[in-house]
Amino acid sequence: MGLSRADAEALDRADPLAAFRDRFVVADPDLCYLDGNSLGRLPKATVARLRQVVEQEWGRGLVRSWEDWFDLPARVGEAIAPLVGSGPGQVVVTDSVTVDLHALVDAACTLRPGRTVLVVPAGEFPTDRYVVAGVAAARGLEVRHDLSALDADVAVVVASAVDFRTGELLDVAGLVRRAHAVGALVCVDLSHAAGSVPVHLDADGVDLAVGCTYKHLCGGPGAPAFLYVRRELQPELRRPQWGWWAQQDQFAMGERFRPHDDARRFLAGTPHVLGLAAVEEGVRLVAEAGIDAIRAKAVALGELAVALADERLAPLGFTLVSPRDPERRGAHLALAHPQAAAIGVAARELAGVVPDVRPPDLLRLGFAALTTSYLEVFDGIERIARLVEDGRHRPYVGGTAPRVT
Ligand SMILES: *Cc1c(COP(=O)(O)O)cnc(C)c1O
Repeated sequence: MGLSRADAEALDRADPLAAFRDRFVVADPDLCYLDGNSLGRLPKATVARLRQVVEQEWGRGLVRSWEDWFDLPARVGEAIAPLVGSGPGQVVVTDSVTVDLHALVDAACTLRPGRTVLVVPAGEFPTDRYVVAGVAAARGLEVRHDLSALDADVAVVVASAVDFRTGELLDVAGLVRRAHAVGALVCVDLSHAAGSVPVHLDADGVDLAVGCTYKHLCGGPGAPAFLYVRRELQPELRRPQWGWWAQQDQFAMGERFRPHDDARRFLAGTPHVLGLAAVEEGVRLVAEAGIDAIRAKAVALGELAVALADERLAPLGFTLVSPRDPERRGAHLALAHPQAAAIGVAARELAGVVPDVRPPDLLRLGFAALTTSYLEVFDGIERIARLVEDGRHRPYVGGTAPRVT
């Protein structure tokens, strides 16, 4: 008991990833940013890269720059692949998680004709639930929520590797085994996992996956998502939109649709070049640090936060909702408090701490190993504790929540 600020400073001095923080823009050194799981910080290299893309490649090179831009969706996909345990030719970066998930789930249903059920957990991220509901509505299928009760009616199972609320880790390999035993396909959402925890898509036998690049991969707001399709499924799987970016020999502009024989067959239209360039820089930093080192630090940051939450926040009415065992949790924590919404707003406005809140009553603290320092976690939790001790959040209770939390 009695963790001190000096203990946190000592952890920072011993941190092998400490130097990475200087490779990011830290505009306000006093701010405790505990929301890198929603939007990763801005890499300094991205500032230079986007200036280069805009001023030189677009401004000067004009349409000639497509010679280089053309390869970006596959090239950035190949850079992400080792971070999620994928061999080559199975990952591309395009569109958004929502659009990619729809394309893959719909395509997977076509591979399982006659099956009547889609499965998605009841507590899954909203867009995943809506996409599954939308595909089910369009195809006259039923949606179920229980991952532990799969049967031969199930066509596709959709689930996140890291729960967006609690950070709980999914047993991906176990889910794949149970789904494959009844002939169902599995699509894993890696949005909170990519760049924060080791993922083994090939080894675990995952069929399909999607994931965000603007969270732990630091690709920037609205950066395009990545998708994964297991090599064996590629020849038969067709996304519902047949677009020219999937086409072999695209600029022959041929009569018939003949898609590539690798993950590029799951592209659709012209990709977002500025977004892709930014993702390439974020992914480069994650790869340089290495996912195992990132995981080790995220666990240590989480353990510090749990110890501080037990000591300082539990007496103030907070309850840890995330798994206590670090082996069962990703890189964020959820703490329940009846006034979580007010505390979240007051922390941002009065205390120089950025956590986020998730309904009904969760305060979420995220740990981005490349940028979050131990001191930031210490100070952030201490400031939240003082805020609540002093009742400074009370004027915010029942107030209007910000539009984006
Ligand atoms: C962040 C997140 C998304 C976001 O989807 P977009 O299409 O990029 O808005 C989807 N699913 C999960 C699980 C997420 O955490």
